[in-house]
Amino acid sequence: MTNAYKIAVLPGDAIGPEIMSQAVRVFKLLESKRDFSFELISAPFGAQAYFEEGKAFPDSTKAICDEADAILKGPVGLSHEASQKIPVEEQPERGAILPLRARYNTFANFRPIFLSSNMAHFSPLKPEIIKEGVDILLIRELVGGLYFGEKHRGVNESGQRFVKEALEYTEEQVRQVLVVAFEQARARKKRLHNIHKSNVLMSSVFWNEILTEVHREYEDIEVVHLLVDAAATALCLNPSQFDVMVMENMFGDILSDQGGGILGSLGLMPSACIGPNKAYYEPSHGSAPDIAGQNVANPYSMIGSVAMMLEMSFNMHEESRLVWEAMKNVFESGYSTADLSKSSDDITIVSTDRFGDLVMANLAELL
Ligand code: NAD
Repeated sequence: MTNAYKIAVLPGDAIGPEIMSQAVRVFKLLESKRDFSFELISAPFGAQAYFEEGKAFPDSTKAICDEADAILKGPVGLSHEASQKIPVEEQPERGAILPLRARYNTFANFRPIFLSSNMAHFSPLKPEIIKEGVDILLIRELVGGLYFGEKHRGVNESGQRFVKEALEYTEEQVRQVLVVAFEQARARKKRLHNIHKSNVLMSSVFWNEILTEVHREYEDIEVVHLLVDAAATALCLNPSQFDVMVMENMFGDILSDQGGGILGSLGLMPSACIGPNKAYYEPSHGSAPDIAGQNVANPYSMIGSVAMMLEMSFNMHEESRLVWEAMKNVFESGYSTADLSKSSDDITIVSTDRFGDLVMANLAELL
């Protein structure tokens, strides 16, 4: 009997459709080689959706996502200047991404920061720091904290405009993401870096209290506490000390982009956003308007998001592993997209489409 899956495909803005068109090829290839069928339903989401339908997350898209077994989302957003044409509440983060996360309570965001030793030359770090590669799983809390807290603008008694936004967490919100992080640490090297700012923020003191309680169920796991500012330095100076890292929403937003920096490009950053009943998968990066329409974006992050979906939503562990292997093979046989390398005798720079062709040809052989 065929295994049938329904996937909502949200191509997004700027480079979104370019990298999405490569990623969905994985599903077609799997259908031709395995007993799976994928129904891909495309829907508008982000700035384009606002211009076409007046809403960044239209009701019709919500209905498609509600029905889907999993959601594949491309990056959304425009340049700062172009964003000003959209009312603040409909700009893609506020109008589309945050409501998507809230709708499905996708509280656990998995952001792998991975570079094999054979790809270490892509990193801007010195070989003595990165030559063995890096393999970090950054887990970011995704539906609480400053991004979701109450927001208020006003004018105070002395006539000064002011703004106030709250960093809010319930104990359950913290506990559920910590449990996910401890489970991942248990399945990997049994070490968990807890990233916080308890020397300043009461929310971090609270977070750490919950962590101490959860840790009692995971006594086999070593917990290393690190302040977020020190963690930013340590990621550059000694990234291999990290295995699983866990942190609140905004810390994770910032440190995971730094992760892309140590790899050499945000184009190497896929992610999974997991909720109790629904998951969506997206590159960690934005829509890169600076390179849109040029067929130069790196589709690894989008294809990698498909690999994460295969593994985490559909239990297709072998197929997921082969997608990663195909991409690694392409890099290791001397091809690269322009974000990672300059052309040289050893390296051929290829376009988005060509990178996709090479990955699919490789994957077809592996499957
Ligand atoms: P960005 O992540 O889009 O780009 C930062 C830099 O990384 C740029 O130089 C870009 O060219 C490069 N880059 C990113 N992805 C790449 C890829 N796949 N291949 C090659 N190079 C790549 O960040 P930004 O410029 O600050 O934001 C652009 C828009 O994206 C904004 O509107 C922002 O709000 C939005 N955004 C969306 C998401 C999301 O959809 N989850 C996340 C972050 C930012």
